[in-house]
Amino acid sequence: MSADTLRNWAGNHAYPATVVHRPATVAQLQEVVAASPRLRALGSGHCFNDIVDAPALVVLDGSPPLLEINPGGRTVRVSAGVRYGALAAHLHAQGWALHNLASLPHLSVAGAVATGTHGSGDRLAGLASAVAGLEVVTADGSLLTLTREDAELAGAVVGLGALGIVTALTLDVEPTYDVVQQVHTGLPWSAVLEDLAAVFGSADSVSLFTDWNGPLVAQVWRKSRVATSDTRHREGGARLTAQGARAAAAEVHPLHGGDVASTTAQRGVAGPWHERLPHFRMEFMPSAGQELQSEYFVDRQDAAAAIDAVRALAGRLAPVLLVSEVRTVAADDLWLSMAYGRNSVGLHFTWKPLQAEVEALLPTLEETLAPFVARPHWGKLFADVDRSVAGCYPRMDDFRALVARWDPEAKFGNDFLDRHVLHPRQRARGE
Ligand SMILES: Cc1cc2nc3c(=O)[nH]c(=O)nc-3n(C[C@H](O)[C@H](O)[C@H](O)COP(=O)(O)OP(=O)(O)OC[C@H]3O[C@@H](n4cnc5c(N)ncnc54)[C@H](O)[C@@H]3O)c2cc1C
Repeated sequence: MSADTLRNWAGNHAYPATVVHRPATVAQLQEVVAASPRLRALGSGHCFNDIVDAPALVVLDGSPPLLEINPGGRTVRVSAGVRYGALAAHLHAQGWALHNLASLPHLSVAGAVATGTHGSGDRLAGLASAVAGLEVVTADGSLLTLTREDAELAGAVVGLGALGIVTALTLDVEPTYDVVQQVHTGLPWSAVLEDLAAVFGSADSVSLFTDWNGPLVAQVWRKSRVATSDTRHREGGARLTAQGARAAAAEVHPLHGGDVASTTAQRGVAGPWHERLPHFRMEFMPSAGQELQSEYFVDRQDAAAAIDAVRALAGRLAPVLLVSEVRTVAADDLWLSMAYGRNSVGLHFTWKPLQAEVEALLPTLEETLAPFVARPHWGKLFADVDRSVAGCYPRMDDFRALVARWDPEAKFGNDFLDRHVLHPRQRARGE
């Protein structure tokens, strides 16, 4: 099949692949992989950079989705191409849930996990932390199954597509739960910076939406489990009000003038976890690709200083910024997770679709965040001009060794991996 019009969700990147494989079975995929000199998987195409690029792509939407719940083991086994929205609806209907979701339910499970995708929550690690098992077709076409018994699982989960084509994942599940969501507007930055932990601890999952300008945070989105966190949620809301914020009386959209019909229900109305944890509803596309994104993760201890530093750049950001979101992510032990080994705060930027202007600004933003050893989101735009990103990951050498063992001929390699992960120093020297 020809792939000459294939682009990512944002439309800012055309995949250079000239061939797209859609194997209907794992056996067919194994044949394709064994016979291909170079190829990579494409998930739902929500990354903003060239991480997917390869001469040939594999898309795993050709067979009926696998959604096998194991109630005793509290896991679900899903095919790689399943979207979180479909998985969540299926789980909820059977009485089960995931621990968290990203802002958007349209992402494929394998693609989201491969790049360390996350939601928000002091005690909630990224989506990849739920992975209890992986089934991967490796470079020679063999099918490898990893579980938590295998030390390599922690290296393979946030794998950036570098280790093979994931065919299925086993994820931890828990009994389904209800969530309330409430938005406050106009919280003074001084209250956030004085006690960041109190603001982010005011609910299970907290997001600040801001343009970094002025004395107020535009919106604070808070989500909490009804059965276990309602007191904390109520008291947290009262504290925000006492600090000068107002509980929003009507539904709001993170973007000024955005269509509130696309957002999940707010105003404290309880509903199933998967209809509250994402900011946007499954049946709506939030902005049909009219945006670009970047995100940087710092240690929670450095978050107030990092926020101050970005606020000082507000004037430079304003011409290209639509909105920023600040979230927390709990630490995990996945080698290439942006939250590896540190409780993190993610500073996210939704940009206007002005690629050249955004790219021109990123080195300044990264220089500003460099003192905090900020790790960029693997799936979003970043510059890494000095090729320092790989050095932010203590297990990077182990990851490189794993790639060398599983894929010695770099069948799943590409320029993105060479530049930022596998050979950044050589690339910096122009080799
Ligand atoms: C509107 C929007 C909202 C977003 N919100 C969030 C958010 O809330 N939190 C967050 O952290 N991120 C967010 N993102 C970023 C997004 O989660 C990541 O870009 C994620 O990788 C997207 O998954 P995908 O399936 O579209 O990946 P793709 O772009 O298709 O692929 C990403 C990587 O995964 C690899 N891959 C895909 N499938 C497989 C497979 N079967 N086997 C091996 N490798 C595979 C690809 O080769 C590639 O390296 C958002 C993006 C958009 C566009």
